Amino acid sequence: MLPPRTTRTIHIRGLALGGPSPVAVQSMAATRTQDIPATVRQVKLLEAAGADLVRVAVDSKADVEALAEIRRQTKALLSVDLQENYRLAELVAPHVDKLRYNPGHLHHHEKERSTQSKVAYLVGVARAHGLALRIGVNAGSLAPEYEQRFGDDHVAALVQCAVDHCAMVDELGFTDYVVSIKDSDPRLVIDANQRFAAARPDVPVHLGVTEAGMPPDGIIKTRIAFEQLLSRGIGDTLRVSLTVPFDDKGLEIAVGREILEDVAAGRFRSVPPRFFEGLNIISCPSCSRVENERFVELAQEVKQMTAYAKEYDLTIAVMGCRVNGPGETDDADLGLWCGPKHVNLKRGPEDLGAFTYDQILPALRRELDSLIAAQTAG
Ligand code: SF4
Repeated sequence: MLPPRTTRTIHIRGLALGGPSPVAVQSMAATRTQDIPATVRQVKLLEAAGADLVRVAVDSKADVEALAEIRRQTKALLSVDLQENYRLAELVAPHVDKLRYNPGHLHHHEKERSTQSKVAYLVGVARAHGLALRIGVNAGSLAPEYEQRFGDDHVAALVQCAVDHCAMVDELGFTDYVVSIKDSDPRLVIDANQRFAAARPDVPVHLGVTEAGMPPDGIIKTRIAFEQLLSRGIGDTLRVSLTVPFDDKGLEIAVGREILEDVAAGRFRSVPPRFFEGLNIISCPSCSRVENERFVELAQEVKQMTAYAKEYDLTIAVMGCRVNGPGETDDADLGLWCGPKHVNLKRGPEDLGAFTYDQILPALRRELDSLIAAQTAG
């Protein structure tokens, strides 16, 4: 049995979440939303794998039109991920059951409008359509005011941002919401979620290690965080994020359910020795925003090509798009993110330019060799 949770129960259409309800397992369609047959197929694949809820990305009015058709073709519970275009909420709302907004993306548009007013708009849309909300805080896209206020104390910044947004939503008298605080480092995820749960034991929590990467490392990172949190009674729904081909996305659900069963049965896996040492490759799980379908293959090739450097304490981040790629690679030693024809490369904060898909691996190798040489000399 999982330990009891102190959170309140909320509803996403017929799905109860929080308190005594079973922990829900969810995932996200990785296909282009406007490719309706592929996205419907992906939703059905995830549903067949046992997903309680499926998230879809929407960035434009054309995506909303596609979403309306996807809604007609499936009865699955759908959630939409609003990034910078939160103003699409009112168009999206009739076709979904839940909206996710990222507090770190609200400042991009309508700069003169206050955050409180934007949150009030989102809550108003959710209320009018009977939807649940997720306040999705992400370490790679933290709202700038929190970065300035907390400096290097990322965990405190993430937790405070989540707590402040809960207060804004509470003030509006809206209770059907969950909170997620995600990072690619499971240790940070454990710390931040524990601190958040201590501050707001009543608010249901969505667990996730973002950009966990490819199996098996992506599964190990996720398991480290989920075991520690679920066994403390933290986590009402979860998403496993793995960089795998579209057709293998059901693995995210299978892994989520396996971790839940293991924790409930008291079966905990130990972490391989020196797991957090040496080369760390993080990569996003991909979604509708992926700008070239070679992304998953590229992530796999990066892993193979860099195997020679496994002893070095370096982080390489591989992201699928230009929306989140630049921010999500900020903390990496080498960062790559995909465009339609080129892959952008950066070394720490320094932008090294864009390379074709055929040029990127040699360019990455040169930079990696140079970082290794500097580390060895140091
Ligand atoms: S980095 Fe881009 S492509 Fe990857 S999951 Fe995030 S939004 Fe989607």
